[in-house]
Order: sequence, then C-alpha cells, then structure tokens
Amino acid sequence: MRLLVLLMATLAFAPARANASPTVHSVCDISQTFTFYMDGRFHRQYLAESGRDARNWGSLSRLDLENVNLLVLSEGDRRLPYTPAAIDHVAAYVADGGALLLMADGADPMPPGQAVAERFGVALTTTAAQKPLRGVGDLAGADIVFRRGRTLEIDERWSPLVVDADDRPVLAAARVGDGHVLVGSRGLFGRKPDASDPINAAWVTPMLVTRAETKAIDPARPHRHTRAEGKREIGPLTLEFHAGTEQFADAVHAVYEEVRPHLVAITGVEPSPGMIKSLLILPTGGGGFSSGRRIAIGAWWGNFPERRYPMVELIAHEAGHSWVLPYAEPLWNEPIATYLGIQVGRRLGHPEADETLARQIARARRHDPDLTTIDPLAKDAPRDLVWGKSYFVFEELERRFGPDALAKYFRTKRVTLGPGRNGYSMDDCVAVWSRAVGEDLYPWFQALGFGVDRARTDLAKR
Ligand SMILES: [Zn+2]
Repeated sequence: MRLLVLLMATLAFAPARANASPTVHSVCDISQTFTFYMDGRFHRQYLAESGRDARNWGSLSRLDLENVNLLVLSEGDRRLPYTPAAIDHVAAYVADGGALLLMADGADPMPPGQAVAERFGVALTTTAAQKPLRGVGDLAGADIVFRRGRTLEIDERWSPLVVDADDRPVLAAARVGDGHVLVGSRGLFGRKPDASDPINAAWVTPMLVTRAETKAIDPARPHRHTRAEGKREIGPLTLEFHAGTEQFADAVHAVYEEVRPHLVAITGVEPSPGMIKSLLILPTGGGGFSSGRRIAIGAWWGNFPERRYPMVELIAHEAGHSWVLPYAEPLWNEPIATYLGIQVGRRLGHPEADETLARQIARARRHDPDLTTIDPLAKDAPRDLVWGKSYFVFEELERRFGPDALAKYFRTKRVTLGPGRNGYSMDDCVAVWSRAVGEDLYPWFQALGFGVDRARTDLAKR
C-alpha cells in the first residue's frame, strides 16, 4: 500500500529521455489511472531507443495528438470511465493514422477500458488465459513471457498475435482507418515502478515502433507533457485537476484544510518558504507524492471518502515533506512524514492512528525486541525496524521532553541550519535534537543502537 508513497518525488515529472531523431512520439496516458509505471517506465522499457515520450495528465478528450504516433492506454479505474468524448477523440486519432496500444484485462465488473476496446471491435473477457502462450502471425516463434491475465474476443477485422493454450487471443492487432490498434493483456508487459522487468521487449518494441512509424511525426517539434488543465486558486494554494478528477477535488482539499493547522501546531512552524503551492488530484488509490512545491494526492486512497483516516495520514505525510525541506531528515524522511500523519490523526480523534503506530513498533520489536540492538543506519537494517524504531524514538522524545518536543525540534532545526548547507546527516540530526531539548542525546541514541557520533558534525559544539 505504501509503496507508491515511498517513491521519491524527483521521479515524478521527470522529463522524457532526450532522443536526437526519434521516429516515435508516444504519449502514456496517466489521466485515467495514474501509476508510476506509466509515468515514464513503460517508455524506458520499450521505447527508449526510438521514441520520445510525453505523459498526459489532463482530460484525454482534449489531448493534442497531432504530432503523436503512439498512444498508450490502460484499462482504467471504475471510478473514472473513459468519456464518450475521449473515445471519439482516440478513434479520430487512429483513423488519421495514429497507433494505439490498449493494455487491459476483463474483470467483473468490466473496467472502463472495455468501452475503448469495443469501439474498435474487441471485447475483454473474464476467461483466464491458459499457459503456455504462443505467438502467431507476425509473432510466430517469438518467446512469450506472461504473468497472467484474461483472453479477448475479436471480430473478423482482427489478427491474433498471441494466443493461449486453447487458441484464444491474448494480444491482437487491427488496421483501423489509416492507423493501428493493438489490444492485449496487461500480463504481457512490465509493471515495476523501477522498470526492472522489461518482459517481451524483443518483440514488443518492434511491434510498437513499426506500427507507430506509419504516421510520420515531426521530430523537430517535440511534443510536451500535458498538465491537468483544471485550476482553482484557494488562498495560497492552487488546486489542480481535470474534468474527470474534479469531482474529487473539493473533498480532498477539505481534508488538507483540516490537516494543515494541526501540522503547524505539531511542528511549531509553517511550511518551509516556497513550499506547497499546488495540490494535484491524482486518479489513483495508490498513494501520492510530493515535490515540495506540489503535493499530489491519490483521489481514492484508502477507499476515500468512505474511509477518512488513510487520507488524513496521506495528506499530512505528503504535506509534511514540505515542512522538512530543504534539509530532509536522513534515515527517517519517510517515517517522520507518516508520523506527522499519525499525530494529526490522533488529534482528529481517529482510532486508526494509535493502531498504526502500535502495529509498526510491534513489527520492529520482532527484529529487535527491546529496540537497543540493531542500528537503523546499517545497510541491511530491515525496513520494519527502521520505521518502527523511528516511531519509538519520536514517541519517547515526546514523552520525555514533550508534549511539544517535535515542535522544539522543528523550530531549532529552522534556526540552526543555514542556507547553502551541504546535506543533513543523522549526526547532525541528533545535534539538533540535543539543542532543542537542552540535553546531550548522543548517548541515548547510541543506547538504542544508532551509530551516531558527535565528532562527525559541526553542530554539536557546546
Ligand atoms: Zn513520502
């Protein structure tokens, strides 16, 4: 669940890789469902050599496809159907020569991608594809790697390219107008946000490139990322959304407004200057990210709005990153952000807050029963240990020096770390904590197994 939250902000909004003379201008759509995989990794796995990629964050029906020859769509999320205007727009692009790849599997109920497939004469089904799969037609003899997925029903205009053990199509292609459409199971393509699984690249890349190249693009005019076009100014904040995500924007923003004063109270300071200028509504339940200036929040994270606590925690987490910059906490950059979320949740009376805290500390104790042995700074320190011990440290410091120990720390950090400082280590961090509470905390941290040393920081001189 937390995987997406953990990914660093710098990965999102990363520019497409430069390519001197691309023959493919692809757009990976992340307006219907946001994933980090579609946000750059698909391109890196299959198109890096021949293509330049841009992402679509805005309403699909308004996307400029004129200088684009490959559009990549996924099955979408039930909360956000492909609109008839979007499907018309995609159909016109294909009729005009563009290539479309729809990666989708049937389910009950059917995902929104079914409406796109049906427009071109394909139906997703709920019938599981039986291994082994084999290539046919253009792909005869190809090695087919397949995780799992569902079969397709195709009409006579379509040619199967990959079939299952019962000869049912799993990937199929058709010429439509001047363009090409490919529909296939998601299980034939990579999925990892670190792009470490480029399965089937040996045939996926040429399959995409040859079809895209039937429409010439002008490489001298790079296509650009398309941002969510909806904007609303709310006080110092710009709320960003598109036609489909607008329905979630107010509710998510209301949680931010609820959370923000508590973050100020807990940390004792305002966000760092220049931070949190915009709040982007992401079409996903998979999490969010922060670049400091912009926080992006999954619109239906934790089954929001039916459940509220996970959204409180996520927003406080992502916003919390804007309180720690420009000197992010080493080691516990992520744990401290979630700890802020837990603290906000407590103040708002959500019982899940204490449960989350207790669960994580218990997980750390499985590795280190009295939390004195394992150094969280060690390379092989288990993740659960790092998170749980971090929470334990914050709780203990609040108990010993609180109830506003965290605020003392944040205030001291703001005045202690000057501009232009080169990095912030755990040795530095303990020095700031020691100043904040007026006690040398190196022995205490060392007793908890932390390999910290006052000799390695310029901040510990007293
Ligand atoms: Zn984070």
